[in-house]
Amino acid sequence: MQINFAGTNLSIMNEYDVKKIRADFPVLEQKVYNKPLIYLDNAATTQKPIQVIEVVNRYHSKLNSNIHRGVHFLSDQTTNAYENARETVCKFINASKKEEIIFTSGSTGSINLLAFSFGEQFIRKNDEILITEMEHHANIVPWQMLCERKNAKLKVIPFHDDGVLDIERYKKLFTDKTKIVSLIYISNTLGSINPIKEMIRIAHDRNVPVMIDAAQSVQHIKIDVHQLDCDFLVFSGHKIYGPTGIGVFYGKEKWLDKLPPYQGGGDMVDIVTFEKTTYNELPFKFEAGTTNYIGAIGMAAALEYISGIGLKKITAYETELLEYATKTIDDLGGVTIYGRSPHKASILSFLINGVHMLDSGMIFDKMGVAVRIGTHCAQPVMQHFHIDGTLRASISLYNTKEEIDYLCKAIEQVKTMFA
Ligand code: PMP
Repeated sequence: MQINFAGTNLSIMNEYDVKKIRADFPVLEQKVYNKPLIYLDNAATTQKPIQVIEVVNRYHSKLNSNIHRGVHFLSDQTTNAYENARETVCKFINASKKEEIIFTSGSTGSINLLAFSFGEQFIRKNDEILITEMEHHANIVPWQMLCERKNAKLKVIPFHDDGVLDIERYKKLFTDKTKIVSLIYISNTLGSINPIKEMIRIAHDRNVPVMIDAAQSVQHIKIDVHQLDCDFLVFSGHKIYGPTGIGVFYGKEKWLDKLPPYQGGGDMVDIVTFEKTTYNELPFKFEAGTTNYIGAIGMAAALEYISGIGLKKITAYETELLEYATKTIDDLGGVTIYGRSPHKASILSFLINGVHMLDSGMIFDKMGVAVRIGTHCAQPVMQHFHIDGTLRASISLYNTKEEIDYLCKAIEQVKTMFA
């Protein structure tokens, strides 16, 4: 398969050393049920390269000390590494300054932070919040909870059956009560890459700020918050080859300055008396208590790892694998793919016709193929298609054509067994 990469028509397969990349991921070497592991559950979580594992091990075994609070050697080392990690994130997404980068527990933690703080400051009775029909529950429920607290309204931008958002409908959903738009960039279920730059412009024309859920984006395509002009953006460390329990909440400084703190505790304060507490400056105002500082350092190592390969190359390689997988599965027949957007990341949701996803998933598992089954925390997407769930194969930078062939073999096996 040939795709246009960097102005050429050469296949990326020729210049992308997937063998070398795979050697960085110890998990991939193992067998399950005596079969080579085919890990295609990357949208749920990605595996970790040795470069990340080693950094996390080094900090746990040699350098651990709580940050920002000590004057001793270890604390100084860890604090510096933590603040350097913030700088790494800042550069990775091209934020204006590192004060705009807040470390959280993950995308879910970040969206809850925003829904609470923004809600406290800006949402009143009858105000409206826009999200899409393809959101992950993490970008639905915190806004719903806010709407319940404030008697506000959640409005939903629908998608067409191919997984493309209805932009005309989006434009019509705005009223003078619309206070924020919160959008998934790449759907964790349909793989659709949404036209968020255009959607942000449409919202800004109406003076409405936009939050981007980039949980499934930072690992696949280059994110530039400056160029996108989003007001807020979130992602999780564990989905970009970093540790679990760490994530990012980015906000433009002009917004973060206006938002009240989300949680109270150590480190987020300036002066505490029983009568009144004043708060620390950005970014610490939003980082109450001991953060997952080793997680942040590990996540920075993951971002450096990705940068070392190059996101352009990763996007091209994964796109080529997605195109190969889609064509091969279509050629097999008897499989329904959900999500046919022309702009798609390497996430494939499907059902083998006439076979329950659980049965398919169990056969896949016994063949060593790890995919996810269920609603993928996006029940409204399943409601759209009137189905209980799908199988989801999510492809990442270390997957191969041979693994896609093996996935197809597993599909054929299911079809044979249920014929
Ligand atoms: N948004 C999207 C699009 C996701 O795919 C996920 C994770 N599946 C989340 C948010 C939540 O991420 P986390 O569980 O890491 O907080």
